[in-house]
Amino acid sequence: MQLQKRKKDLNLIISESHLKEKLKERNLRLTKARKIILEEVKKARSHPSAYDICVKVRERFPNIGIATVYRNLKLFKELGLIFELEYTGEQGRFDSGSPDHSHFICERCGEVFDLEDPIDKTLEETFEKRIGAKFTHHRVEFYGLCKACRSTKRA
Ligand code: ZN
Ligand code: MN
Repeated sequence: MQLQKRKKDLNLIISESHLKEKLKERNLRLTKARKIILEEVKKARSHPSAYDICVKVRERFPNIGIATVYRNLKLFKELGLIFELEYTGEQGRFDSGSPDHSHFICERCGEVFDLEDPIDKTLEETFEKRIGAKFTHHRVEFYGLCKACRSTKRA
């Protein structure tokens, strides 16, 4: 299984016209703030929290309010431009790809890695049939110690 911090083919930049179109669905305009926020989610090394995104956005747009960043992250989620991985007891982590990939979470350093292999869709069909439901998506998560953490003894 290929393990990467960021999938290379994750469609790192959404085209501006696609973004404008999506915003139009809500009668919203593409503002400078919105553009920068989305860019920072896309550029992030790996699954940033809302706080991480705020820090980055403020380097480029110092006057932006935290509430604006959070509100727009929520909007982008609703528009399906990004998605959020929620973990109990932690801030959600944002992902700019499609939800159709799995994650590995290191229980020591907290890093969230993408697993390239596509999710087994037959599993969805099996369970849908069994319980008579229709799924929108599903998430697979692996937990353990990453390579770097495995090679360093806990202090
Ligand atoms: Zn680790
Ligand atoms: Mn991911």
